[in-house]
Parts: sequence; C-alpha cells; structure tokens
Amino acid sequence: MLRLVLQPVLALAGRPLAALVEPFLRYSSRQVGIALIYHSVDPAQGDVERELVPPHGSALFAAQVRHLTRRYRVVPTDRLLTSVAKRKRGERFPVAITFDDDLRCHQDIALPVLDHAGATAMFFLSGSSIDKPFTFWWERLQRAVDTGVHPSESSTALGVGSGEALASIHDIGKTIERMSPAERDRTSAALAERVGSDPPESGLRAEGIRALHAKGMGIGFHTLRHDPLPSLDDESLALAMTAGREELEAITGEKLRAIAYPHGHVDSRVAAAAQSAGFEHGFTTRVEAVHPGSDPFLLGRLSPSYRSAGHFALQVLGLLARRRHQ
Ligand SMILES: [Zn+2]
Repeated sequence: MLRLVLQPVLALAGRPLAALVEPFLRYSSRQVGIALIYHSVDPAQGDVERELVPPHGSALFAAQVRHLTRRYRVVPTDRLLTSVAKRKRGERFPVAITFDDDLRCHQDIALPVLDHAGATAMFFLSGSSIDKPFTFWWERLQRAVDTGVHPSESSTALGVGSGEALASIHDIGKTIERMSPAERDRTSAALAERVGSDPPESGLRAEGIRALHAKGMGIGFHTLRHDPLPSLDDESLALAMTAGREELEAITGEKLRAIAYPHGHVDSRVAAAAQSAGFEHGFTTRVEAVHPGSDPFLLGRLSPSYRSAGHFALQVLGLLARRRHQ
C-alpha cells in the first residue's frame, strides 16, 4: 500500500528533491563515484516480475541519461577510479554507464540516446553473435514463457531439472545458472528446440559493434560463453578469459581492457584470473559505490530504477551518500 502511494510521489518529487539535496553532498569532499549497469532498452518498459532481463523503457532510459549529464560527470569506465580519487569539494561526482550482453537495442536505441546526450558508455560484449543471430539460454527461456509455457508448468517440459515445479521464471533461471556448463548447453539446446531458431535480429553483429565504437563508446568483454566463472575449473576459467576476445578486438582494433563477470559472479580466484589475462578493470553486480581504495577488479554497479527518473535520482544520491562498509 505504501509503495502504491510512494512511487507516484517519488516519480514527481524525486528529481526536485534530489536537486535540493545533491548540492549539499557535492559540497562535501567525499571521494566517491558510481558505475551503472543496464541490459536492454526497449520502447515498451519491461516487467520485473515476468521477465528475466526486463528492458528499461526508452523514455525512462533517456530521462535517466539526461539526469546524469545534468547533475553528474559521466566518465568512461577506465577513468572512473582516477576521477573518484581526484574529486575535490564542489565538483560533480563521476558516474560511468555500462551495458551487459550483446543486444540489437544497444545499437538502435541506446546509442542514439547516449550520442544525443553527449554521454559515453561501456558495452560489455560476449561476441557470440558477431556474424550470425544468437540467443543465450535466458533469452530462449523468456521466449518459451512468452509463448505460453507457464513457469509453474513442470520444469521437465523446459528440460530443467527432474519434474519439480518451479514457481517463477526467476526460479528456473537460477536453477539453470547453477548447472554445469555441459548441462546448461543441453538445456539451452532443448529450449531452442522448443522455441525455434534464434530470431534474425537477435544479438549484435560486427557492424553494430563498429557503430558503437565509432561514436566513442567503450567495448569490454563479457566472455563468449557467459558461464558463471567461479564454478569453472582453472583451465576453463583461463579459456573463458580469452576465447572470443581477439575476434572482438579485431572489430574495433583496440584491446579489451575491462571485463564484466557474467551474472556478476566473481570471487578472488576469478578476479586474479582477469588480472593475469591482462584486463585492467573488472565489474560485478554488487550494489556498491566506487571509492579510491576499491579493488579495480571488483567494482560494484548499481542497477538503475525501472520505476521512474525521480526514483533513479534518489537511488543514485542514496548510494553516493551511503557510509562505506569496510
Ligand atoms: Zn550478461
């Protein structure tokens, strides 16, 4: 009930409220910044209950980017830590925008919005659809559910587990995420059989990646297979850090210097593997601000609000103001 009342209030008053509070925070000498994580952007706003990776509505996304360029300093990911460490009293707080996964909407929708706003962003790509359509298991699962397979239907029908009914698409997703790479491959193939071949527009081709890069966007790595990295043995982990990387580097002519860990899963062994594979920064999905002492291979990211630009404004401010846990 409170949420029903609060959300419209936040939508209306969030930005004016943030605009009142933000100058006080800016007047502090706090050395802090934020990285944001987006996935897809679509004209129609997604549904967090029903969708595994709901898109941000393009109008909401544009309003959030506008807010960032007006109130903050949008920096490339490789300058986030140094911008945080150099920040002085009165200066805008640095914010880096990132996207995970290879999606056509990055080229068609996100890029024009970012370009129009004069903002840069980092796109963490797997490179799995450079020359042909490709969808990952969670996209196939979403299509299965969208075309009428109710999530509570026996999970066997989806080739997931042994018949225990899973309550929601999110439960099924978590189950698939925990599988071994071979099991997950089988499940993904079973899902593909159920929903048919990958749609022609799925993924992001080389020309889309070139278009992002030509407009000054950063390209980072998200691993070719998107396996949760902590579950891999040392050999597979080392392979995940390199497989498909050169193909992406050949498109932009630049080294991929940053990685976003698939599903945000990382531990100290994975972070060390990223470092020895030559990456300079690694991004998680932990909701943490970036401080001068942050581990460059364990940089947190905030998932922007799906509700309103007002809610987003307060969300960013709240994370910047939060006391740091040691
Ligand atoms: Zn991903």
